[in-house]
Amino acid sequence: MSRRLVVIGGGIAGLSAALTAARRGFRVTLLEKNRSLGGKLHERWVGPYRFDAGPSLVTFPHFFEEMLGVGRLTFQSVEPHTHYFFPDGLALTLYHDAERQAEEIGTKLGAEAVGRWQNYLTYARRLYERAAPVFLQLPIHDVGTLLRSALFWRHLPYLPLIDGHRRMHEAAEKILRYAPLVQIADRYSTFVGGNPYTLPATFHLISWVENGLGNHHIKGGLYQIVRAFEEALQEAGVTIFLETPARRIHLRGERPAAVETHNGLIDADAIIVATDHTYAQQSLLGRKTYPTPKQSLSGLVFLWGVEGVSPFGHHNILFSGDYAGEFAAIAAGRLDYEPTVYVCISARTDSADAPAGSENWFVLLNVPPVGSAWREEDTMRFRERAIRRIRQVWGAFAPERIRAEAVITPAEWASMHYSTGGSLYGMAPEGILAAFRRPANRDPYVKGLYYASGTVHPGGGLPLSLKSGQIAAHLAAQDLLSERIWVKKSS
Ligand SMILES: Cc1cc2nc3c(=O)[nH]c(=O)nc-3n(C[C@H](O)[C@H](O)[C@H](O)COP(=O)(O)OP(=O)(O)OC[C@H]3O[C@@H](n4cnc5c(N)ncnc54)[C@H](O)[C@@H]3O)c2cc1C
Repeated sequence: MSRRLVVIGGGIAGLSAALTAARRGFRVTLLEKNRSLGGKLHERWVGPYRFDAGPSLVTFPHFFEEMLGVGRLTFQSVEPHTHYFFPDGLALTLYHDAERQAEEIGTKLGAEAVGRWQNYLTYARRLYERAAPVFLQLPIHDVGTLLRSALFWRHLPYLPLIDGHRRMHEAAEKILRYAPLVQIADRYSTFVGGNPYTLPATFHLISWVENGLGNHHIKGGLYQIVRAFEEALQEAGVTIFLETPARRIHLRGERPAAVETHNGLIDADAIIVATDHTYAQQSLLGRKTYPTPKQSLSGLVFLWGVEGVSPFGHHNILFSGDYAGEFAAIAAGRLDYEPTVYVCISARTDSADAPAGSENWFVLLNVPPVGSAWREEDTMRFRERAIRRIRQVWGAFAPERIRAEAVITPAEWASMHYSTGGSLYGMAPEGILAAFRRPANRDPYVKGLYYASGTVHPGGGLPLSLKSGQIAAHLAAQDLLSERIWVKKSS
């Protein structure tokens, strides 16, 4: 009889964990508290406008194809990939195409800046090649697996060379010198919810992921990922219970016994918790003394149906004038700063997302993870600041152009998915050991209890969360095979 594995949480990590575990022979039940799967990866319609209301771009498309098969999703490369707007009026467009990129930087900043950008990308690529394979593929906290892994031994000589001692901003200034390019490079820290003034320079590898490997949209919107998973989970025989929050994990000695829901207990030989890690420790496991770590950035999201045709592309960053001040305020939990404004208009690539003559704007501002302390007046204040910044770039923009609107605040991120403080990426990545300080995928005390999600190893973002689900399910299968944890139970 196959072993019963319960996955708690139907975000991308839980979907990936459930599918991987089912394919590895477990009898899998997936519990999701909300009415639909996907977690932060969700879709909203506001009037006639469609929005990807959480993640707005995908990297590493092959991770998704390896899990779901080629052809289930249609990835669309976004080119140019990002439009940057600086407070002094400079506009700089970033391309995947190296020649167009060189021409753009050369025209706007001069020949020396082109060389510096190329050197920076070479540096980012090297960091990626040295660090990413080990950190993305392996459970780095599991010494046994590391020692058995040829991949680990192959990369070991390079691990001291991943520039972990400098901070991202320091390295960017040294390599790039030109302030606009430094600000662009610093921004990659936000892809993991971090701060470029405290994050190790190693994280510049993210810049290679976007600039070198590419960012993508998905035809029909990013929620197609969830729809594809739903089909695959059905084919794999996974039982899914929606609107079924897990209330508590019950243990028998040092092993999982069952998951408690409002419908009663679901027996489990193994459990993968695919929720926010801090919430899981404190609420599902009742580890009351578990400390709440400092959390990464939260986001204030406006979904606007905007009348007219703006000068913007698909992905647009309208930088604030004081980037250091913005990060300092966020780190201190203050709300008194001018925010950098991200505007994503998916209708640029998928015209069905907005009626003709109008646009669907997903507007994201980085804000501190203050959770339920967020107030309506905070939303109104940031809304005014965002509009002011947008008007500096598109003078014809006015609040009257906003014909449809919805807002998602840190308080809602916290209540919708039980993310601590409404943080988007779990604990704040900080210091040289940032990657190692993330919680491991296997519980240190309970045999048969595993963790997936953007809040544990290898980290946040869709592709990494997907990897965490795979890693957790493989650990469960590996433990089953090695018969380290399995006791005879009636099933
Ligand atoms: C505004 C925003 C923009 C982003 N932009 C990008 C981007 O462009 N690209 C990118 O790659 N990533 C982006 N991210 C990050 C990415 O969305 C996340 O890292 C990823 O979706 C996390 O997935 P997850 O499965 O770990 O967590 P979640 O998506 O939070 O899923 C956890 C699930 O568990 C459920 N749950 C919680 N508690 C329980 C319980 N007790 N019982 C049952 N179910 C429970 C929740 O309802 C939820 O469905 C963004 C995130 C946000 C919010």
